Amino acid sequence: TSSQLYSRLHSLDSKSYGALKQLAGTWQFQGFDLHIDKVQPDPYASASRIRITLPVTATEVPQEFLQDTADRVAVSDFIARDIYDAISHGPREFQAVRPGQEILPRSSVTCEKGTVQVALTFQFPAAGRRVKGRLAAGLLVDDLPGLVSYSALGERLQHHALKQHVQTLRDYLFIQRELQDRHLVGFVADGAVLARRSGNSDTPLANAVPFESPAENKVFFDLPSGRSISGLGIREGITLLVGGGFHGKSTLLKALERGVFPHIPGDGRQLVVSDPTAVSVRAEDGRAVTGTNISTMINNLPGRIDTQEFSTANASGSTSQAANLAEAVEIGTRTVLIDEDTSATNFMIRDQRMKALISAEPITPFVDRISDLWEDRGISTILVMGGSGAFFEHAHTVIALNEYVPQDVTERAHQLAKQYHETKHSLSEGNTDKTSSLALLGAPRTVDPNSLLVEDTRKPPRGRGLEEIQIGKENLDLRYLSQLVDSGQTQAIALCLPLVARRLQTAQIPLAPAVQEVIEQIEREGLETLTGSDSRVRGDVVLPRKEELFQAISRWRKLRLKR
Ligand code: ADP
Ligand code: MG
Repeated sequence: TSSQLYSRLHSLDSKSYGALKQLAGTWQFQGFDLHIDKVQPDPYASASRIRITLPVTATEVPQEFLQDTADRVAVSDFIARDIYDAISHGPREFQAVRPGQEILPRSSVTCEKGTVQVALTFQFPAAGRRVKGRLAAGLLVDDLPGLVSYSALGERLQHHALKQHVQTLRDYLFIQRELQDRHLVGFVADGAVLARRSGNSDTPLANAVPFESPAENKVFFDLPSGRSISGLGIREGITLLVGGGFHGKSTLLKALERGVFPHIPGDGRQLVVSDPTAVSVRAEDGRAVTGTNISTMINNLPGRIDTQEFSTANASGSTSQAANLAEAVEIGTRTVLIDEDTSATNFMIRDQRMKALISAEPITPFVDRISDLWEDRGISTILVMGGSGAFFEHAHTVIALNEYVPQDVTERAHQLAKQYHETKHSLSEGNTDKTSSLALLGAPRTVDPNSLLVEDTRKPPRGRGLEEIQIGKENLDLRYLSQLVDSGQTQAIALCLPLVARRLQTAQIPLAPAVQEVIEQIEREGLETLTGSDSRVRGDVVLPRKEELFQAISRWRKLRLKR
């Protein structure tokens, strides 16, 4: 019990740190259990892992929010935020993981089988290498119960805010399911706030111009929460976002990029919803590519480099963007998002003058592929392009942003495309040859599972912040995965690598389905698939999408195809 823990800690006062090990186990407190899972071996090691568990019936969380899996995700996410707030204002020996702006399954708080579980870390206080047992007793036995009762787990549960959190997720998921039936790939509600406070902050910009959709593209939803809303419905096919510089094009595209995840109340993007498979495709020179078929876009590279099975340790702007597109298709995207700001010009367009000057061009620009992508493969594109009208004739919808206000300019853009086409043909010098068929785009790769495993199994891959995974002695750089949003997702991806390898070993399947199966298993069985259960649970894991797991593996420099 807690009083036994209290006296044990007192008896350990000024003892050497190693003696703390004996505290591992479960201690009953008034109203909850404290589990001391992993005791740090010394004061300088990473902090000790602890958990709090209690029956959900001991909390004030209403039953109606505990029936459905998605509701429980919202409840857990809500508690995780509240606990983080409480902990970050409490003694610094306790640490909780800080959630970002998305509502996601997090290992820090779960709510399954009638039990709420909160994973924290605790830094046992020390003087040199000796334990400050009395201080630790005060923190764990006196302060911790206060933190728990003065949080969403106790009397401080804010019922209205919890309800709003649950409803926000319900509304989001409702819209996301509706999108497909209505042949939409994205939705941005009127009144949404898309702009962020700064380039390094994900919180909303104060005094931003709220979003207001053009009449031509307005769609309506009656939400489960009872609200009726309207907003921009982005139809399947090709959508072009145009407008002057600094008028808000990239901001809209980025909101759609993040619209694959639900956002918390107050974020401004709660009602921005994208096709869940949407993938942002950008140039990323320097990335490694292993065996990706980019021949649809690029052929006849110098030195007879094979583009049906393209591998390089150092891709160029255009080849990296081609690989990113091919891999997005390989993992099954139905919507690609492209911004001129992060694209290679030669991947996107090539004008008549350049065609006349340079005939030996290996690249078929995206402008010559975008329609086939939709017509042959059913893949939609949302494209920001303020610098060239070359895409007008291909777009089904053209939206112009003018001082952050979108207008439908499809008709005018099509007129201009037609006029231009007529003059162009009088001085035409013929079309580019199309390279190999679009059917080859996204061809499945079968990889050697051993190339995903580290030799030293005591040092499994681990996430380091948002943008990096350490695998053995190498780093996997994820900085350009703009839809990787939480360092917990990075950690999860690291923990997924051995699972993917095992899947590839047992079933003779290509990489993409193996990745999909692993993510589906986690969705079914919970994040404990990655962490292990009970005393192995850690608080720093967040559910990633299959798209990001796949993109991460595709960037791994030691990846090998199976021969
Ligand atoms: P573009 O891609 O058209 O050049 P950006 O999307 O990068 O423009 O936006 C330019 C600037 O305007 C950014 O600083 C962005 O945060 C800000 N911004 C975008 N949308 C809004 C808005 N609705 N209200 C206020 N500021 C906005
Ligand atoms: Mg821009």
